[in-house]
Amino acid sequence: MCGIFAYTGNKGKNASTVLLDGLLSLEYRGYDSAGMYLPESGSVRSTGAVSMLRKKVPKNFKGHSGIAHLRWATHGEPTEKNAHPHQDCSGNVWVVHNGIIENFKELKVGLEANGHTFRSDSDTEVIAHLVEEHLKKTKDFEKAALKALREIRGTYGIALQYKKEPEMVIGARMGSPVVLGLGEGEHFIASDPSPILPHTRTVVFLEDGEVAVITPKKHTIHKLAGDPVKRKATRIDWSAEESQKGGYEHFMLKEIMEGPEVLQNTVRGRLLPDKGLAKLGGLESVTKQLARINRIIIVGCGTAYYAGLVGEYMLEEHVGIPVEVELGSEFRYRKPVINDRTIVLAISQSGETADTLEAIREAKRRGALALGIVNTVSSTIARTTDAGVYNHAGPEIGVASTKAFISQMTALALLTLFLGRQRASATPEQASASRRREMSVVEGRDIAHALQELPQKMQTILDNRKAIEKLAIKYAKSRDFLYIGRKYNYPIAFEGALKLKEISYIHAEGCGAGEMKHGSLAMIDEHFPTMAIVPADSVYDKMLSNIQQIKARKGPVIALASEGDTEVGKIADDVIYVPHTIEMLMPILNIIPLQLFAYYFAREKGLNVDRPRNLAKSVTVE
Ligand code: GLU
Repeated sequence: MCGIFAYTGNKGKNASTVLLDGLLSLEYRGYDSAGMYLPESGSVRSTGAVSMLRKKVPKNFKGHSGIAHLRWATHGEPTEKNAHPHQDCSGNVWVVHNGIIENFKELKVGLEANGHTFRSDSDTEVIAHLVEEHLKKTKDFEKAALKALREIRGTYGIALQYKKEPEMVIGARMGSPVVLGLGEGEHFIASDPSPILPHTRTVVFLEDGEVAVITPKKHTIHKLAGDPVKRKATRIDWSAEESQKGGYEHFMLKEIMEGPEVLQNTVRGRLLPDKGLAKLGGLESVTKQLARINRIIIVGCGTAYYAGLVGEYMLEEHVGIPVEVELGSEFRYRKPVINDRTIVLAISQSGETADTLEAIREAKRRGALALGIVNTVSSTIARTTDAGVYNHAGPEIGVASTKAFISQMTALALLTLFLGRQRASATPEQASASRRREMSVVEGRDIAHALQELPQKMQTILDNRKAIEKLAIKYAKSRDFLYIGRKYNYPIAFEGALKLKEISYIHAEGCGAGEMKHGSLAMIDEHFPTMAIVPADSVYDKMLSNIQQIKARKGPVIALASEGDTEVGKIADDVIYVPHTIEMLMPILNIIPLQLFAYYFAREKGLNVDRPRNLAKSVTVE
């Protein structure tokens, strides 16, 4: 999720300085703690920023090589104890890691049974112990590392060091980016080229399932299975800032482009597709309470509120529980009627949103079960709720939320599957007492399989982004925009409009398409365009009629339709096509073109899309 950086060289540079400076240029990725290890000097770790780590580094902390890390916690609180680098029992094997080791629990149990003692709660620590275990049989560090890597499942960008071979660093990639820097008499491993660029512009990008070994003079790459890989080096012309943005012009575009990966990370390890089940470890402690709840109140602000609205449609249709969605800022001042059979579910990217936090405190005072869908581990909301689901979307930098929204809706889909199937397996008496509907195995499987197919479908939308860019440029002079949708795409109309107003500062308004005739339609004329979300779903015909109402007033219409639709193109001025999926997951695909549209629209106006005026990323004030 965050940043790794490793160095080995014989040029007389102090690895400690190289690593600290490198970590600084990775800070943009978001972090909660930092640390480094030099075989010649030991380790130092700290919570907070790199400046805090720098203060803790002893004077004579020197060496020719080392590994360093910025952590963004996923497993275990963001404390010094859980900060990387992590070590084995002997203190010889050290590791830094970005990502999640999915099978760490099983591995840890086995290792503990073999006498290993763990020092932290981080999933990463198992890697060091696994290598140590293999070193008992082979004295070769490289072989031991390879064996360990073959046993772990999940996502990783890793750098490993062995005290007895201080010149060598082993890097590996699976799902988290890793790049090698090739200098003269020095080599680097990093999450992106930015910390490498002050030293060399010659780099090699690793692919998933590849392992690299670097020493000051040499680098080799091979596949996990052992076959050697030959890859030409690339010269990077990007500035450090461009390379932080992955070569994209803005963080917002980079984060929209991460959508498919975010989907995978949110779902990873949480689906049993053939059984039609979702496995949510974060809810295990409250399973019994969940079985008897009869009402859900979702609380959020801004984009998270709209994710909540999508959740309302999902949960009511597929679980049969009454759901209400509330703005955090309203909920806290009402006198909500809540009891111990009510869930109050907070949705917050930062986990620090003041209004949502207060709503959760109020809910707890009134005896509700407080749950969270939160992206930041151990944030205040995560700590205040009784249980929850982490997004695992990685830090989001653009102020206008994009990838976190994708992840929030995905987490709500998982929750729907989890509760739907849990309640289906309840006793008939319990079932009839709460008058809920049953989610069959077949329905569960359909949802699970559709979820698995989403990343690929999302990728095709992203690959066709040029068409959306053209459209945004065509409409960029508009002063107003109406967004309409119905049912699952009603909240998407609001979120699409919110994206546009947040970063382009023009008037954009979301509206339930059926509601237009009660007011918004009065605004429509030939200068007032509408974005109509009209996928092939159960309200398709109704949407077509609503589009006709706009065309009758000469309003320009862009339709967001399903691939294969031959009707809507006859009435709309422009059409964006999106792949088909099951109705409850359509919003997750449909929001992508709207995020891209807002992005290109604001860029065309020459605005600072990553830092829109008057707004902050984490709203910790009332
Ligand atoms: N899962 C690891 C941890 O929580 C790594 C987190 C990261 O990518 O920074 O320690």
